Amino acid sequence: MVDRWKGWGCMVDRMNSNFAYRKTSSIVDTSAESQPVWFSNEDISDADEPMLIPLLLEGFNQWVDEAAGLSLFESGEFALFNRAGEEIAAAGVLAEDQRSVCTDSLAALIQKATSSGEPSSETAENLSLSAYPIYRRNDKAVFCFFVYISRVENFIEPPVLQMCALHFRTCFYHQFEQIYVKDLLLQQERAEKEADRRDALFKAAKRLYDQIDVSSVLSELLRSLEDLYPTSEVHLYLSQDHLNGDPRVKPLIFKNAEHDLVAKAFLNGKSVTEHDRDGTLRLAVPMTGKQAAYGVLCMSIGPGKWDEADLPAFLLLADTSGSAFENAKLYEQSNLLINELRLINELTKRLNQSLRLKEIFQFATSELLTIFDADYCCVLQLNKVKNQFVVMSSNFPALTSEEFSPDYGFCGMVFRTQEPLIISDYWHTRVVTSKLMDNTSSRSLIAAPIMVDGEAVGVILVTHKAPNFFSYENYKLLQVMSTHIGLAVTNASLHAEVRRMVITDNLTGLHARHYLNEQIQNKQRKDPFGSLILVDIDLFKRVNDTYGHQVGDRILIQVSEIIRASIRQGDIAARWGGEELAVYLPGIRAEQAYRIAERIRVHVEKETDPVVTVSCGVSEWTFEDEKISVESLFYRADMALYEAKHNGRNCIFVGQT
Ligand code: GH3
Ligand code: MG
Ligand code: MG
Repeated sequence: MVDRWKGWGCMVDRMNSNFAYRKTSSIVDTSAESQPVWFSNEDISDADEPMLIPLLLEGFNQWVDEAAGLSLFESGEFALFNRAGEEIAAAGVLAEDQRSVCTDSLAALIQKATSSGEPSSETAENLSLSAYPIYRRNDKAVFCFFVYISRVENFIEPPVLQMCALHFRTCFYHQFEQIYVKDLLLQQERAEKEADRRDALFKAAKRLYDQIDVSSVLSELLRSLEDLYPTSEVHLYLSQDHLNGDPRVKPLIFKNAEHDLVAKAFLNGKSVTEHDRDGTLRLAVPMTGKQAAYGVLCMSIGPGKWDEADLPAFLLLADTSGSAFENAKLYEQSNLLINELRLINELTKRLNQSLRLKEIFQFATSELLTIFDADYCCVLQLNKVKNQFVVMSSNFPALTSEEFSPDYGFCGMVFRTQEPLIISDYWHTRVVTSKLMDNTSSRSLIAAPIMVDGEAVGVILVTHKAPNFFSYENYKLLQVMSTHIGLAVTNASLHAEVRRMVITDNLTGLHARHYLNEQIQNKQRKDPFGSLILVDIDLFKRVNDTYGHQVGDRILIQVSEIIRASIRQGDIAARWGGEELAVYLPGIRAEQAYRIAERIRVHVEKETDPVVTVSCGVSEWTFEDEKISVESLFYRADMALYEAKHNGRNCIFVGQT
């Protein structure tokens, strides 16, 4: 079949005859071909006329196809004119010169047909011209003229021509309906495409909202974009540190000129488009939630690939991903918080189970190792007397009980600044030398001071062999936990102080009597033997009377000091009551206890000022005794003391068992 459109503007041989067919009008706009016509179904109206031209051509073309066998084509020419009298197409046989001769006559003929509204005929220059107005179906308005031109001798009867004109009209309507149906199909196709897009979007949004962790939201978003826009290149620039390993997810860098478009979209909160030199369209859309903007979705679409109708869907997806990202982030954060609170709660619970400092440090070490999944932990306490940090607890045995100067290593750094510390890679940023890091081959570190009453009393060091192991959250959590450890240390210290006060005599600094009793009882359960010395100042009443109570007190202190200096570390000296003092010597027999008492007696006589003397009673117990008790031990010592007093004082007697 001949390509009709191609045929326009030139003479075409048809069916081996001298039949010719041409497009004659310049008013035909063939570019209309590619555009949808969007007719309403109310038939043709005036406003449609320019758009009708291609249809008239098509209709005429179809009619020529169908009527090609008629001999009429060989004896004249059929022509089609629009309402304005402009020629649209012609087919048939008529010499060029003959055709040009009748131009004016044709115009007059159409004029005549227009005014009469009836088919009209004319004869000019030996030519016979007939024009048939073609009416619209509904209101009978003329929309074109069907014209036959022939030599006068080839004149055709009007009914035949009228039949041809009506046949042409049918062909035209056929074309009209075809294009109308085509339009409908196109509309339907578009509606279906839109529905598909909406469906895909809905599914993508649902999938996005189904994700509860940030990384999955990002992966899902990229997957959805890939599905929806398979020919585009998609990148996601994030303002926060959430890189999930996908090379399409990148950090949003404001300094970089390459990201200008992205930065603009992020800062203005609006989508930005840009055409590259090669015609590629770059589209940047901010990914925003209710609370903040989290990044920018950037798409590069090749020349001619972008359909403007895709924009709303893309914006919607960016919006949805922003909300989904935010939800997932909040969920992640709340989980993190809940977990942190749970850990803090557990740690405090465990710390509060003990009031012993050593135990607290050991708990802290094991808990911190578990919480941070760390390799090593070391808790140091400042010994103020020695001005040294002492390792109180560590899972690296070589460090246990090690001492460090307060300006050494990371411990010294934390102590100086009283601030927590995070080191991502010790091997690269060796700010100080650290025995812990070196000996354990650790690279990551978090550290925090243990604060008591605004003063650093210790330092916690937590390490891992891998670099960049600890997160910022870990660092913050250790800070919070060190506060709780500090509180536990405060509690334990206060408790120790109260206990010390309870078991210590105020005036002499020796132990209180109940403490001595407790201790002797304990020792009698475990040891094979032990001795007790009771020391009583001779004629102390007289000292008081002579020098006053204050001097009496001073002498009591002097005697206590002498006793303290005369015994060993494991021995327990106490104020038994008034001016009577007692010393328990674990694992010592009476004989040796006597010598110690003698040492005390001699020193008192020599060193007190004003001079006083003491009398001592010594007793012992052994595992062989029939009855072992604190009371009997004291009773026997007291008896011996009584004897010493009766024997002139300033002497020592040993009680008999
Ligand atoms: P003896 O050699 O028999 O032990 O004579 P003494 O005077 O030491 O014995 P006595 O039991 O008669 O008197 C004990 C005195 O010790 C009575 C009291 O004034 C004095 N005393 C007891 N406790 C204190 C104290 O804490 N400070 C002072 N300054 N004196 C005390
Ligand atoms: Mg006394
Ligand atoms: Mg006395």
